[in-house]
Parts: sequence; C-alpha cells; structure tokens
Amino acid sequence: MSMNKNLSRYRRDVVPFMMEEIDERCPDAGSLEYILLSAHQNRELFEQFEQHFLVCDACQKRIRLMELFYRILDQEIRQPVSPVVVEMAQKLTEPQRA
Ligand SMILES: [Zn+2]
Repeated sequence: MSMNKNLSRYRRDVVPFMMEEIDERCPDAGSLEYILLSAHQNRELFEQFEQHFLVCDACQKRIRLMELFYRILDQEIRQPVSPVVVEMAQKLTEPQRA
C-alpha cells in the first residue's frame, strides 16, 4: 500500500542526487551533470553512478548525447569570430587603398 520510499523522496530539483538511489534509477539531468562535473571531488558518488552506467542503456545514451553536445559547444567556442566581423575590422584598420 505505502508508496515506494524512494519514489516519494524523489525530487527533481534535489542536487546532489541521493547516492543510494543511483543503483535503482537514472539520475535526472541536473544530477547527472553534477555527478560528472564533480567527479574529481566526489569520487565515491561518481563510482556509484559508474556502476549504474555500466548496466544502463539509457544513461549510456544520455552521456553520448552530452558528449556530442559539449563537443559541438566546444567547437562553437573555438570558432573564430564571424568572417563578417573580421572583414569589417580589417576594413577599419587597413590603410585606405585608392
Ligand atoms: Zn540510467
């Protein structure tokens, strides 16, 4: 009759994710990001998630998508400034040609 204890405790906005819950279900997006970004400081939490990750297709897919997202973001950040802006700057600084 009583609700699953973990389910009733579950709140999407609670970060960090409760460690004992990782085994049972996928962390939400915010917790997943927290686990990955704090992996160096929070080794135990990360390893807990790692155990889940190894057997969870959904989380493996999520991480792949996140990797892809960050790769695209990284490329965007590395992109030189828009060619239009560069051209405009060059026109402003170049000595005027007749
Ligand atoms: Zn999962």
